Amino acid sequence: MSSIKLVNLRKEFKEVVAVEELNLEFGNGEFAALLGPSGCGKSTTMNMISGLEQQTTGDIYFGDKLVNDVPPGERGVGFVFQNYAIFTHMSVADNIGFGLKVHKTPPEEIHRRVKDVATLLQLGNMLKQNAGRLSINDMQKVAIGRSMVMEPRIFLLDEPFSNLDASFRFYMRGELKRIQRETKQTMIYVTHDQVEAMSMADKIAVMDFGVLQQFGTPDEIYNYPNNTFVANFIGSPAMNFLDCEFKQEGDTGYLIQKNGASLIILDDRRRGLISQRSGAENLKVGIRPQHLVARSQQNGSSGWQGNTFFVEPLGSKTIVHVRVGGDDLQIVSPADHRPAIGENQWIDFSSDYVHVFDSETGQVIR
Ligand code: ATP
Repeated sequence: MSSIKLVNLRKEFKEVVAVEELNLEFGNGEFAALLGPSGCGKSTTMNMISGLEQQTTGDIYFGDKLVNDVPPGERGVGFVFQNYAIFTHMSVADNIGFGLKVHKTPPEEIHRRVKDVATLLQLGNMLKQNAGRLSINDMQKVAIGRSMVMEPRIFLLDEPFSNLDASFRFYMRGELKRIQRETKQTMIYVTHDQVEAMSMADKIAVMDFGVLQQFGTPDEIYNYPNNTFVANFIGSPAMNFLDCEFKQEGDTGYLIQKNGASLIILDDRRRGLISQRSGAENLKVGIRPQHLVARSQQNGSSGWQGNTFFVEPLGSKTIVHVRVGGDDLQIVSPADHRPAIGENQWIDFSSDYVHVFDSETGQVIR
């Protein structure tokens, strides 16, 4: 097992820059996720780590060792893909032990290691079964087992569960997390599904167009997004955004909605930060649907007002869509809050949950 350090890692495919000066460090035994939309450079990054793809520039370290020139077969990397290529004519045991056999490992050792891995994966009672007869999630476990039995220094998983049904995917996420905790294996998991990354990983690297947008714990990324891309990509329903400009009257600084009349009073610290910058007329306010409260009656402190234009009853909660000025806001509300279409709503929030971004760069002002 090993830590990984990527230093100014870059990959070009002719004129396409797939990965741009990527700097990342994953600790030994850490479960990290590479998260981002299709084409953002996740698989290319994984391929460079494994050595299947040569980087254009930059360095890759496993622990203290520079592995730029180490061939893929000698890097000690285990790889599991979305399309688990298992041998359907072989038994589960032969599948898991395949790599060990190729490496001419003594049969008693193969037997012991296959048994240990199968037990960990809860496949212990299926070792003699034909792998072609397994359920899809057990097949994917066999694929994981086949990599795991080689005791890789680093385990890379590229969207391994995207072929599974939603319920199996949920089950396999839990299983993988359990296996990672028990083995303390350094794992990097590629996904475009933010729920998958948030629910499993210790650290998440969010990428877009080959550029790292943020690297942090799930809590850091959710609560303190660096920019509008991360703010929008993480969390469901997505964060609400309003275009605003900054105004100051005496000691009071506030943001006023461009597309309406709603106000947000700023605390002194943020007032200070925003008043000192140029471009204060072009700001974006972000607030999560979970951090707004919609009421059908006015509460003494109600900040904003708008009209209900859509209501989504989801059983455990209701998503109420309210038009405030010219902006459409989603508000996660209790299940029994079901305003009629067209009904007026008063909206409250705490300014602690308000994120302010520069509209042009998308960067947070914090
Ligand atoms: P997905 O989730 O769809 O697999 P990804 O985030 O893994 O996407 P990559 O597959 O790494 O993204 O691709 C990053 C960029 O590099 C894309 O623009 C892609 O078209 C391009 N690319 C990847 N591999 C090659 C290649 N072999 N030749 C040319 N361009 C490539």
